[in-house]
Amino acid sequence: MTESVTNWAGNITYAAKELHRPHGMDALRDLVAGSPRVRVLGSGHSFNEIAEPGEDGVLLSLDVLPPGIEVDTAARTVRVGGGVRYAELAREVHRHGLALANMASLPHISVAGSVATGTHGSGVGNGPLASSVRAVEIVAADGSTVTLARGDERFGGAVTSLGALGVVTSLTLDLEPAFEVEQHVFTEMPLDGLDRAAFETVMSAAYSVSLFTDWRTPGFRQVWVKRRTDQPLPDFVRAAPATEKTHPVPGMPAVNCTEQFGVPGPWHERLPHFRAEFTPSSGAELQSEYLMPRESAVAALHALDGIRETVAPVLQTCEVRTVAADGQWLSPSYGRDTVAVHFTWVEDTRAVLPVVARVEEALAPFDPRPHWGKVFTTPAAELRARYPRLDDFRNCVEHLDPRRKFTNAFVRDVLGE
Ligand SMILES: Cc1cc2nc3c(=O)[nH]c(=O)nc-3n(C[C@H](O)[C@H](O)[C@H](O)COP(=O)(O)OP(=O)(O)OC[C@H]3O[C@@H](n4cnc5c(N)ncnc54)[C@H](O)[C@@H]3O)c2cc1C
Repeated sequence: MTESVTNWAGNITYAAKELHRPHGMDALRDLVAGSPRVRVLGSGHSFNEIAEPGEDGVLLSLDVLPPGIEVDTAARTVRVGGGVRYAELAREVHRHGLALANMASLPHISVAGSVATGTHGSGVGNGPLASSVRAVEIVAADGSTVTLARGDERFGGAVTSLGALGVVTSLTLDLEPAFEVEQHVFTEMPLDGLDRAAFETVMSAAYSVSLFTDWRTPGFRQVWVKRRTDQPLPDFVRAAPATEKTHPVPGMPAVNCTEQFGVPGPWHERLPHFRAEFTPSSGAELQSEYLMPRESAVAALHALDGIRETVAPVLQTCEVRTVAADGQWLSPSYGRDTVAVHFTWVEDTRAVLPVVARVEEALAPFDPRPHWGKVFTTPAAELRARYPRLDDFRNCVEHLDPRRKFTNAFVRDVLGE
């Protein structure tokens, strides 16, 4: 059957004419072994051509494979299939009285696709979602299965892999006892007076903190504070509590968002901003994001404030989060505690791209690593220079996929091949 396959945002139509959906592992192995070039499409929430297999390639979806979510309550781990989304996983994990350490802003995304691009939530003590992964099972180019686990020599390349090593058919994740979270929203926090120490205090006020601005004014319209109920209540004095339920994108219905006003609830219904059964974010948008050393956060925010008249006209919202350092070689937070500055743009590539380039210019002094799943214009050579373990990742690709069956134009750029 021929179909036109696009990403969630609709700004990318993949050149691959077909989306193959194997029903079982044998069919998957045969397809991989018999195809010259293969890429997997997760839930399609990336905004660039990272999943594109090219005209001669096969685009695979794992969404009709048996989901396979196996919770081991004694070991506090879960083994999850390569096509499963966080919403489904979180419900099952919670049913067993357990929790994931953190979630992204939405639960609609696939686990394998998210960790492949370095997807993250917020929290000074929370690494990206990939930091929960303890083992990955990959169907390699010849159809055989390879398992890479924490402690293995090549594990640093195995999780945030841009899909370049093979088809991830399962991941094993660390869990912890289930916990409750309260979400408090504050409004109108000025940028003025936010020095490095104050930024640290704000972002450390609770388990997960996000700042939102539309850059129409030099400050933050909203501060979202997600407190674990087993941790102290923050004394948050820099902004006033919101008086009505809010959505981070001005004008969007707040009903789409997870519960606010400090109503305690399970971790998976508070850590994401958006509820699983509603459209996340605005739905008509492009996104970019840059991850920088956390000590540069305030200087980077002032640099953006300096170009806010350029940024604001094409911006729906900008979110500032923190991510703890992790050890995946291609993780945008590899080796450094990070501030992540995210942009939800209007849905107009032509208008947005020059502004993206302007943002990159303003942030260049702060060694920004773009989010792998979002829109960026950083030249490949610059990108490579920002990843000190790129050679190790290239060796990992060489070892697992010497003929580059799982490589595409995006990955070739990153590897410099
Ligand atoms: C509304 C919205 C909100 C978002 N919020 C956040 C956020 O809070 N934090 C954040 O960091 N990002 C966020 N993102 C970005 C998103 O998390 C990433 O783009 C992520 O990669 C999406 O996962 P996916 O499964 O949709 O990936 P896809 O776009 O489908 O794929 C991404 C990559 O993973 C590969 N891949 C997928 N599955 C497999 C597999 N089984 N085996 C091998 N390779 C695979 C693909 O080939 C591709 O290279 C958001 C995106 C949207 C649309």
